Amino acid sequence: MSELIDLTAAQAAERIRAGEIAAAELFDAYRERAARDELNAFTWVADAAPEANGQSGTPLGGVPVAVKDLFCTEGVPSQSGSKILKGYRPPYTATVVAKLAEAGAPLLGKTNQDEFAMGSSNENSAFGPVLNPWDRRRVPGGSSGGSAAAVAAGLAPWAIGTDTGGSIRQPAALCGIVGLKPTYGACSRYGMIAFASSLDQAGPFTRDVHDAALLVRHMVGRDPRDSTSLEYPGEIELPRAEDLKGLRLGVPEDLTGSEGGIEPGVRESFEATIKLAEGLGASIEPCRLPHAPQALSAYYLIAPAEASANLARFDGVRYGLRVAGDSDLVTMYSRTRQAGFGAEVKRRIMLGTYALSSGYYDAYYGTAQKVRTKIAEDFRAAFEQFDFIVTPTSPCTAFELGAKMDNPLAMYLNDFLAVPMSLAGIPAISIPSGLSQGLPVGFQLAGPAFSESRLLDAAHALEGAIGFDGRQARR
Ligand code: GLN
Repeated sequence: MSELIDLTAAQAAERIRAGEIAAAELFDAYRERAARDELNAFTWVADAAPEANGQSGTPLGGVPVAVKDLFCTEGVPSQSGSKILKGYRPPYTATVVAKLAEAGAPLLGKTNQDEFAMGSSNENSAFGPVLNPWDRRRVPGGSSGGSAAAVAAGLAPWAIGTDTGGSIRQPAALCGIVGLKPTYGACSRYGMIAFASSLDQAGPFTRDVHDAALLVRHMVGRDPRDSTSLEYPGEIELPRAEDLKGLRLGVPEDLTGSEGGIEPGVRESFEATIKLAEGLGASIEPCRLPHAPQALSAYYLIAPAEASANLARFDGVRYGLRVAGDSDLVTMYSRTRQAGFGAEVKRRIMLGTYALSSGYYDAYYGTAQKVRTKIAEDFRAAFEQFDFIVTPTSPCTAFELGAKMDNPLAMYLNDFLAVPMSLAGIPAISIPSGLSQGLPVGFQLAGPAFSESRLLDAAHALEGAIGFDGRQARR
């Protein structure tokens, strides 16, 4: 069985196709591992392989996928890490989950996450924190920490999560795996329990870049049920590149300078990776993204503003929890929300409601939107000179559980390098670039909208040169 677990998803699919292993056997091997999960990565695990599993001829071959809790899955708990949705089993399935099942990746389980995807450590989950498989005293990152930990620990061959301001890339970095945030609009948001609708994007967590390409190519496409989804131009190609000849990489000094608080070990790994990129034929030069350091401030107005509107629907009437007592309607609403939401979610609702309130709207929300436009323009200008922008994914490696819970600003700073790309709506990938004091470090590449194929290709070449070994986390 350990041999099965060591296969990448693409290798497993190939063996199934060749008749060397049965899809149900692979499903059961992972199902058993997921059911014995000691990392608290799963909130629900399937109890049997689906009947259609193993049907030959599907492009994903029957290799099961773990799915972040916030994707609605018909008849299966979908609680977005929140007490207010406890016991909610939706009557429908999110488009990307349905697409993956159709392509031959059945649902293995639902993964733990920060409540409503708000967080960078997974400690904001109503279902308890997730542990990092590299060191169980440390966080896996967030908000998609369950998906990242499950893939890194070999409890799932691959997984999906969502990235609003770093929630795929940062946990991928902290867990030593690959995470891709696609172009905004590339994947349908239908059935994703919303955090910030103008930023939320689904994407893959995988052991290598090839698997990421294979999974994401079956997630993208326009969906009539999400008016912000777009027809993907062409098909996402499987990566082949072994070098970076002719590619121009920009290192944005506005982000990688002293402001971001990048740890020495992370900086070392970043610089070593830059050297490898040069060795593969890329040219590397500093570039400017002058407004990017303001991204975090803009994000923490825009995302809470949208969240305050999106979370208004949780009122004890339509979903999950209701705390009624003997009172009137408004008291029932407030008691339900008081008992159902955690501290971080309440903080964001208050921030967002304030930023949108009459008299303050222009000063806060309006200004943040202008900053967002400036950041998108910065990237557009940079991509006239560079193919990709590269940074470390996160300024630090996995930190200890509890280390940042009393300091929201320190927690928010984790996303300093990830949020600019989210505000600009552009794709970005994190690949493991090595270890710092035994903990994984992530390297981020970002490209123009719909450059996923090229981005994956470059990441693939770099991955080959880095030669990261993640086996230690899969025990
Ligand atoms: N950590 C960021 C936040 O707390 C990003 C979360 C996300 O991408 N969902 O909002």
